[in-house]
Amino acid sequence: MLINRRDVMGLAAGAAVWAGGGAGAQEARLTVVATTGMIADAARVVGGDLVEVRALMGPGIDPHSYRQTRSDIAALTRADLVLWHGLYLEAQMEDFMHKLGARSPVVAVGEAVPESELIDHEDYEGRFDPHVWMVPELWLSVVDRIADALSAARPEGAEGFVARADAYKAQLGRLETYARGVLASVPAPARVLVTAHDAFSYFGRAYDFEVEGIQGISTESEAGLARIGELVEMLVARGIGAVFVESTVSDRNVRALIEGAAARGHVVQVGGELFSDAMGVPGTYEGTYLGMIDHNVTTIARALGGVAPERGMDARLAAGS
Ligand SMILES: [Zn+2]
Repeated sequence: MLINRRDVMGLAAGAAVWAGGGAGAQEARLTVVATTGMIADAARVVGGDLVEVRALMGPGIDPHSYRQTRSDIAALTRADLVLWHGLYLEAQMEDFMHKLGARSPVVAVGEAVPESELIDHEDYEGRFDPHVWMVPELWLSVVDRIADALSAARPEGAEGFVARADAYKAQLGRLETYARGVLASVPAPARVLVTAHDAFSYFGRAYDFEVEGIQGISTESEAGLARIGELVEMLVARGIGAVFVESTVSDRNVRALIEGAAARGHVVQVGGELFSDAMGVPGTYEGTYLGMIDHNVTTIARALGGVAPERGMDARLAAGS
């Protein structure tokens, strides 16, 4: 009932915008609400001037545990188009999104990645690991799906959406080439990526890294002491010198690993902070999808003994990041 009432309010607000446009004024911009920053970024690039995009989740926000707020609900029900990731990433928003999708355009863009490319979820049969944004090549399908969704919502803009999506995909292709190059420079024995939760399975498969998350695919599971002990053992036995913290997950477990290894006489350092499930601060390079991935790839390569420019692909990363 709450949704119905807000919808009516949304329609009224929309009508006011149209009426206020006046004769000859440009058509109102398409309002798009996206859950993650990565999706919002692609929607802004592809949508250009024709869209107004709002992201619900900012830097440091964990999508696995995020629950829509009252103001999110208002924005979601008023939007011309809602883009979410799907694949059970926004686990706490599933019910709401399915209900909203029965009445207005709601598109799960992460599900555009072909099933043959998806990695099975370790905890749930029949579900997949949602972290497909970690590999630009996989994100291409998502960009196409966003262009399709925008075109369906605003057909007269379709030509522009497709052209901008193509230009953006060329940039993603360049990023993919950079990632493959610098990550290939990491010596084989050091190709182990230890992070707070299992966000890097697609990364590991694409770039030939063994990936060990302390927590599972969702951040909702508690990391057991046994799991920490097992990873300390692995770090010591294989002489791995760096582990990584994540922007959206507490570093408590990573610190426990470092302390555990130190107690065994093996020095492990924090190789840097990776953007796992959210981008950096809006308005910065790291606050874009390109910058997020450039940061991760560059940080990982350098911390594990590979060769990469200190400030990344185009020298745009913040110094000392
Ligand atoms: Zn995650």
